[in-house]
Amino acid sequence: MSKSLQAIRGMNDILPEQTPLWRYFEGTVARLLDNYGYKQIRMPIVEFTELFKRSIGEVTDIVEKEMYTFEDRNGDSLTLRPEGTAACVRAVLEHGITGGGQVQKLWYIGPMFRHERPQKGRYRQFHQIGLEVFNLDGPDIDAELIIMTWRLWGELGIRDAVKLELNSLGTSESRGRYREALVEYLSAHHDKLDEDSQRRLKTNPLRVLDTKNADTQAVLVDAPKMADYLDDESRAHFEGLKARLDAVGIPYVLNPKLVRGLDYYSKTVFEWVTDKLGAQGTVCAGGRYDGLVEQMGGKPTTGVGFAMGIERLVLMLETLEQIPEEISRQVDVYLCAFGEQAELAGLALAERVRDQLPNLRLQVNAGAGSFKSQFKKADKSGALYALILGDDEMAQQVVGFKPLRGQGEQQSIAWDALAAHLATCVVQG
Ligand code: ATP
Ligand code: MG
Repeated sequence: MSKSLQAIRGMNDILPEQTPLWRYFEGTVARLLDNYGYKQIRMPIVEFTELFKRSIGEVTDIVEKEMYTFEDRNGDSLTLRPEGTAACVRAVLEHGITGGGQVQKLWYIGPMFRHERPQKGRYRQFHQIGLEVFNLDGPDIDAELIIMTWRLWGELGIRDAVKLELNSLGTSESRGRYREALVEYLSAHHDKLDEDSQRRLKTNPLRVLDTKNADTQAVLVDAPKMADYLDDESRAHFEGLKARLDAVGIPYVLNPKLVRGLDYYSKTVFEWVTDKLGAQGTVCAGGRYDGLVEQMGGKPTTGVGFAMGIERLVLMLETLEQIPEEISRQVDVYLCAFGEQAELAGLALAERVRDQLPNLRLQVNAGAGSFKSQFKKADKSGALYALILGDDEMAQQVVGFKPLRGQGEQQSIAWDALAAHLATCVVQG
């Protein structure tokens, strides 16, 4: 196929054989979030470019080199959203739903776009489930976010394969003092830093802590630590968070180098990481951003949130073989009908059954076909039972009921009794 008719590099189709696992994952998260009292919000996937520059920060990887930015027909600069927080903050401000200290516990799901180098677990269109809480400033809500994800890992069967890393970045004042100390130290070792870090030292020095370069990492061993610069309030907040995680029994590692890529974080930052996915090991990341709303022109409003990468979590479920058996079967019953009269009767019968069992996954054969070919399709569909309507069944107003997986003889069931019979043998999802 010519290149222009192929999907864009790093932007993937999610094929029908993959969607059951995606839907299982998304459904599990959605149910959990509902149960903890979070409400869904849906934002556009395109926003004014300025929004992301203002909120994410001009000197971040995302804004410097990863955004899909274009001019629309009016000459406005627009950007495909690289993350969800900026748009979510814009939306709550625009609609005034965080005014007067109103608490909002919100979540969203959808595609994000970043022009990165595509590789396993890293794509140019990827999908996140994200969550933001406004106007709750205590460590209790930071803890709730982490506890909720911990429960999610448990439900998905991947808890043993993820590790929680925690840090506190303090308030912007204490972070400012720390930044000064770090810049002073790193400047004294300027020649030993890699080129990228030398550049970051001028633009966004905390990001040097994030370096993958071994020489720079060696320099960082003796660098000043954020923990020594934390103000009392942030320290108490962080202790409060740790106490709550301890109370619930959630293990964590303190990682003083965890700074996160975006400018807007303060106090709590955390990442859930795994060693099962190679280099792309962070599956969920977040933190507190108490200054962001004000920075975007709103009244002071605290915020805390996280985002998880759906591709990476789906990959983990596959890698760890944590795929529930039921999700691969999408048909309960397959109805085969032979001849025109049987086909008409089958159609009506199927609708009667669906009236009574709205959750039954009943597939009616389409495209007619011989006994053999319809039976083959029934089997291939994964259905547990085939229903058979031929001349004999039509004459007696019954339907043949044949188990397709394992034991059991074919029986005849009266049309009127079919729904009741199916209700007893198919567990409805
Ligand atoms: P990374 O360090 O892996 O680039 P990040 O810090 O840029 O991640 P965030 O902006 O915090 O990531 O996004 C939250 C989550 O979204 C990440 O932890 C990851 O699971 C997922 N994610 C981020 N970028 C990508 C991408 N390009 N492809 C797939 N998933 C991604
Ligand atoms: Mg990134």
